[in-house]
Amino acid sequence: MTADSSDDGGPPVVYDLDPDCTVEDVAEGNYYRATVNGVVDYGVFVDVSSSVSGLAHESTYDGSYEVDDDLVVELTEIRENGDLSFEPVEVGDYETQQVGHDYDVADAGELGDRIGATVHLEGEVVQIKQTGGPTIFHVSDETGVIPCAAFEEAGVRAYPEVEIDDVVRVTGDVEERDNALQVEVDSLDVLAGEEAETVRGRLTDALDERAEPNEVEPLVEWPALTQMFPDLEEVARQLRRTVLESRPIRVRHHADGDGMCASIPVQLALEKFIEETHHDPEAKRHLFKRLPSKAPFYEMEDVTRDLNFALEDQARHGQKLPLLLMLDNGSTAEDVPAYENLAHYDIPIVVVDHHHPDPEAVEPYVDAHVNPYLYDEDYRITTGMMCVELARMIWPPITEELRHVPAVAGLCDRSKADAMTDYVELAESEGYEESVLRDVGEALDYEAHWLKYDAGRNLINDVLNVGGDEQRHRELVEFLSDTARSEVDDQLDAAMPHVEHERLDSDAHLYRIDVENHAHRFTYPAPGKTTGEIHDRKVQETGDPVITIGYGPDFAVLRSDGVRLDIPQMVSELDEEIVGGGVSGGGHLVVGSIKFVPGMREEVLDALVEKMADAELDEELQSTVVGHEQDDD
Ligand code: MN
Repeated sequence: MTADSSDDGGPPVVYDLDPDCTVEDVAEGNYYRATVNGVVDYGVFVDVSSSVSGLAHESTYDGSYEVDDDLVVELTEIRENGDLSFEPVEVGDYETQQVGHDYDVADAGELGDRIGATVHLEGEVVQIKQTGGPTIFHVSDETGVIPCAAFEEAGVRAYPEVEIDDVVRVTGDVEERDNALQVEVDSLDVLAGEEAETVRGRLTDALDERAEPNEVEPLVEWPALTQMFPDLEEVARQLRRTVLESRPIRVRHHADGDGMCASIPVQLALEKFIEETHHDPEAKRHLFKRLPSKAPFYEMEDVTRDLNFALEDQARHGQKLPLLLMLDNGSTAEDVPAYENLAHYDIPIVVVDHHHPDPEAVEPYVDAHVNPYLYDEDYRITTGMMCVELARMIWPPITEELRHVPAVAGLCDRSKADAMTDYVELAESEGYEESVLRDVGEALDYEAHWLKYDAGRNLINDVLNVGGDEQRHRELVEFLSDTARSEVDDQLDAAMPHVEHERLDSDAHLYRIDVENHAHRFTYPAPGKTTGEIHDRKVQETGDPVITIGYGPDFAVLRSDGVRLDIPQMVSELDEEIVGGGVSGGGHLVVGSIKFVPGMREEVLDALVEKMADAELDEELQSTVVGHEQDDD
């Protein structure tokens, strides 16, 4: 406070300091309300706040004072040694002004040049972690998140009254520890009432602004995809907001090439954004997890594991429950039981997928659902293509690393989009020939197979060549794609002689293979891909409409070209018609998988073939081998 009490002739101003005011809040010449806290021979000591006090020398006043007397004083001098001199004043009419401590609140995101300084922070507690030593409160403000260490006793919770989501004021010293900043807490107060509202309002406004996604120019001119940009921007906004709120993000993605091309860019973009907004070097690890899903839908086993981990993290690290991001997966009715399981907890769900969706079944459970079918488009807009743009909306500089990724995604899922020409050209301008892009896809598929339930972050980054070593990438992809192809050849050498052929009434060829008995098991390629490869060879061979069924004891994988199938529709009919068949499944219209009980295999397959024979032929051959088969043998 620097205002002067002797002003323009109105009544004098007397300042009434809040208890937390410091010497920074007072100025010489001002009047203050004071309380006597001690009487000595040479005068009285007065308090003007909890920490600001000084002496009124007996020469400056007549009469006498006792402890706890209230009076008005003038601050006559702030000495070099910090001592304050006061003088009691007699004022008639005066105006009282309340003074709060001028905190000069620091920004959590800007503490790098304030190491060693004492700072004040105002923000929201987003995580509380009890270590063997101090309690770590992660405090988030408009500019970032900073860990604040408060020590009570080793392993004992400091400030037990403070909870997640509380708005607090922290005073402490900025320190650097293991190359990371933290604040060592002197005091931590939960704000209440108007003060809390003000801070919360400020945080909310800032959060909205910082969550705003970046505007990006689409990588290629393609209205079919750009019409989805507003939906993708909404997802980008929600993901950025989730990072800012320190809510962890868990990604589940289909374990195939397109699923990898979708999830890796989003992972890199979010990790960059987490680095930018969180001082804690552990934040990246705590706030982001990516896991592949072997099944073509969110299995009970997977959701149970995810939920269990989330609840353990909550208990152990004081973390919020995560947001679930489903990529290249998650759009179908088969996902609903898992979603129902999650609905018991505060776990938002966001889906970006291009498999034939069941919007009515899924949408009651999800916060956002982006799928080309909802725009009268189809699988040819692959999840990788959508997610590269999504990643750029989250963190634009990542564009440099991603220009070849949509082409890989499209080739993996055999997208017939016109835009594929542009995507392949774009990749070529980055030095990737089309044959190399195909090899990358093959290598991704191969690694996804052997990684099983592992994310394989660094390995996959090398294969896809995002943030990796160029030379190693080339050699690795060549090795993996060659190995994958020769293993496919071995598999087909064994299987092809066992493929049964018949001509359907519609004139389409039907090929059947018992992948359980006439192909190697537990190796690459798994039944789904084995069936797909057989199918591709037959399409090449005949040039006619082809349907291929690869079946095991309790499942069948379906592929078709030039035939208008509606597999989800067939599955629901079979389930109704074959009592005790236990039929379930789905996938795309013309590619999919079916499960049934082993004892009903013949009935189910016969009925299936009948339905396929009834299906109309397409005028033009369309090759679509978008893998959504159950490939976990
Ligand atoms: Mn896909």
